[in-house]
Amino acid sequence: MRTIYLDYNATTPIDQEVLAEMLPFLKKHFGNPSSSHVFGQAAKAGVERARKRVASLLGCDTSEIVFTSGGSEANNLALKGVVETLSAKGNHIITSQIEHPAILNPCKYLERKGFKVTYLPVDQYGMIAPDDVKKAITSPPAGRAGKTILITIMHANNEVGTVQPLAEIGHLARRHGILFHTDAAQTIGKIETKVNKLKVDLLSIAGHKFYAPKGVGALYVRKGLKLEPLIHGAGHENCRRAGTENVAAIVGLGKAAEIATRDLKKYQSQVFNLREKLFKGILERVETVKLNGQPAKRLPNTLNLSFEGIDSEELLLKLKNIALSTGSACHAGHKEPSKVLLAMGIEPQLALGTVRFSLGKYNTAQEINQVVKILSRLVNQKR
Ligand SMILES: *Cc1c(COP(=O)(O)O)cnc(C)c1O
Repeated sequence: MRTIYLDYNATTPIDQEVLAEMLPFLKKHFGNPSSSHVFGQAAKAGVERARKRVASLLGCDTSEIVFTSGGSEANNLALKGVVETLSAKGNHIITSQIEHPAILNPCKYLERKGFKVTYLPVDQYGMIAPDDVKKAITSPPAGRAGKTILITIMHANNEVGTVQPLAEIGHLARRHGILFHTDAAQTIGKIETKVNKLKVDLLSIAGHKFYAPKGVGALYVRKGLKLEPLIHGAGHENCRRAGTENVAAIVGLGKAAEIATRDLKKYQSQVFNLREKLFKGILERVETVKLNGQPAKRLPNTLNLSFEGIDSEELLLKLKNIALSTGSACHAGHKEPSKVLLAMGIEPQLALGTVRFSLGKYNTAQEINQVVKILSRLVNQKR
């Protein structure tokens, strides 16, 4: 049997158009973008074209894009870079319990450095209530003690796909003069990601979640916003991220951004139809299946299901040729239910019977039929 990949929220393959665009920059355009000779200028032109494409995807200015080594670095730069420059103004950060580790762990680090962090809860659908954000904002009259300086809420969750009400939260943040960051690693190319509509000041993206290579990403930084670099060195990226640019990867990121903009509608209807086909197929054959995540306000490609009485790790082992994720993580050799599912109030036992299907643009109806057939049979056998 051929392998079937349904784990696009973990990573995506590189688009052939992206690869084709990158190759010349791994061969003849090897110059250093900082060099003023023709070799350097060819490389620089590639980087700057990519910057235009990413800016166009996000609806911002090219000067507002900082290329990074990926989503994790973009998140770290946003959080640490901003709070360091604002530490005289306040020391309180608001985030949620369902963020990616690339947000939660920088937050933990900042707590060790004396910042206060509020981890907002979510409802049964994994949704954050703007009202909870409002209640968490603190604005003491003078100085540092407890004043909120930054809110960071992910655009959509990687496990269940729930899309957060960013514009409402951004509106609140603005009214209180608080900076607003979002981790948009899971939404680029899947739903609209225009920074002005989302009312964000900072936004992180990760190349390998939308058909660009791994190890490249970007941070949108609203004009005028001061940011302390994580990596100090020469003046690359407008003195916000030192280091000679990963030119080919950045060129790939740019091409992937162009494709994401160009094909958004097509992508949405294609993966949504396949996902619904998968969901309906499973519901028709398997009893007591629980859908996790917001039924409507959800990424079009993500389907997170809990199967009562099933150990999803065991199930995945039997599904050898089908690549999926479970609702658990391995910690020190034993299984722990996903923190995201627990935050949504799902019983630990049921969380351990959870499977995440995340579809992508290369999936076919035939693959979905096969997955429905094989998975249903295995679940029913086990029960
Ligand atoms: C993948 C991912 C990241 C990390 O991006 P990397 O490029 O792998 O560092 C951060 N946040 C979310 C939501 C992600 O899905």
